[in-house]
Amino acid sequence: MNSSPPRHQAIIGDGATAAAFLAAADLRPGDALTLIGPAPGRFGAGRVYADHASHQPWRFAYLLDRQNTTLGAGFAGWLAVNWPELRQEIAVYQPQHLDRWADSLSSGDFGAFAAPRALFGRYMAEQSRARMAKLADAGIEVRLIAGLVTDIGRQNAEFRITLAGGEVLRADRVDVATGGPGSQRFGSDSGPTAFTTLHGNEEAIAKVLQPGWDVTCLGASDDVLDVIHFLRAAVPGRMPNLHIIGEVAASGLERDPVFRALQGDDRLKVTLAKVDWAYADAAGKVRLRLRQADGTSQEITVPLAVNTAGPGEQLNLDLLVSGLIARGWLELDNERRAISVGPGFSARIDGLRYASDAVGWLDGVPWRPQENDFASRVRQMRCDPAKMN
Ligand SMILES: Cc1cc2nc3c(=O)[nH]c(=O)nc-3n(C[C@H](O)[C@H](O)[C@H](O)COP(=O)(O)OP(=O)(O)OC[C@H]3O[C@@H](n4cnc5c(N)ncnc54)[C@H](O)[C@@H]3O)c2cc1C
Repeated sequence: MNSSPPRHQAIIGDGATAAAFLAAADLRPGDALTLIGPAPGRFGAGRVYADHASHQPWRFAYLLDRQNTTLGAGFAGWLAVNWPELRQEIAVYQPQHLDRWADSLSSGDFGAFAAPRALFGRYMAEQSRARMAKLADAGIEVRLIAGLVTDIGRQNAEFRITLAGGEVLRADRVDVATGGPGSQRFGSDSGPTAFTTLHGNEEAIAKVLQPGWDVTCLGASDDVLDVIHFLRAAVPGRMPNLHIIGEVAASGLERDPVFRALQGDDRLKVTLAKVDWAYADAAGKVRLRLRQADGTSQEITVPLAVNTAGPGEQLNLDLLVSGLIARGWLELDNERRAISVGPGFSARIDGLRYASDAVGWLDGVPWRPQENDFASRVRQMRCDPAKMN
């Protein structure tokens, strides 16, 4: 009989990566597991696969960036089983998605299209709830805390986790999964009609957007597609023209049928340039300094701008993770463009692990988030040399 004392593991974050830590958890009866994030009731959805409220017309607007089948074996099957109800929900909010998927749906192929990200989040949350129930049945105490962690400290062999409300938890092991890098920033690029990201700012954008205004996207990442789907849903019948500043030709955006349709209708202007800075002067007035490939600069003023650059050349991390780097617990690679972790996503201090899209090196080997699905992340997390024992 194993007589080692019970241990406490904490997972910080409630997105898909935290769900992978949950799936990889190696716990024994009597151990405790605490899950901390803003919405632990939807553990596994996080920010990327979040749902929107039923009064928000952009609910279900954002689509996965790849076919359902590539998100693991179970998701397409889950869609097929739940389709009668899901179809009705989608028809209420985004009926045009059903037209987009008509060929796949008519042949009953639920793997061959890209579903709303919020539905993948719902699937992840269901899977996570089932995993939690299994752990509880096995005698592990599972606790969910709705909140944010502001600090992780160390006292002797224990971690001390401070929550935004002031409560301090002790844990033997901590897994940090607070999300990948934010979009690169362009100076004073936030203001009444200048938004550092679409996600989370939808209400504000819908409120300030005036008829006749173009919407300018700063950068040509996949976020542009979210902007298109958002605008179509938020202001039906008066979809504004789009101005994209960035390398559209190199981005892959043109593979998207909705993007191509806008191009065909002449609703989309592309400026091939880099944004040097953005200055949110006043409502309806966002100044931009652009640099062309030949090195010349130009200043323009646009009514409303949304940052769609993606991480770009910056590694824009949240404060908690920056603190772990400052303490030397997490390591940046030589170019300071990605986080380097050891086997099983282990940090440089025993008992701490870190995983997110900011990881660029796993156990000395290059690691690319888009090449590692949920199941492979769980496998990689199980390689932890410092498993609880
Ligand atoms: C806009 C966008 C779209 C994407 N689309 C796809 C896609 O279609 N297909 C695909 O395979 N991959 C996609 N990705 C990649 C995807 O990000 C990752 O593969 C992964 O799913 C992200 O999950 P995550 O848990 O690391 O991050 P997140 O989803 O960001 O979750 C992190 C969670 O931790 C919480 N958190 C942050 N700080 C704290 C704190 N201090 N305390 C507690 N909780 C905290 C956050 O609020 C958030 O809920 C996309 C990424 C982005 C940014």
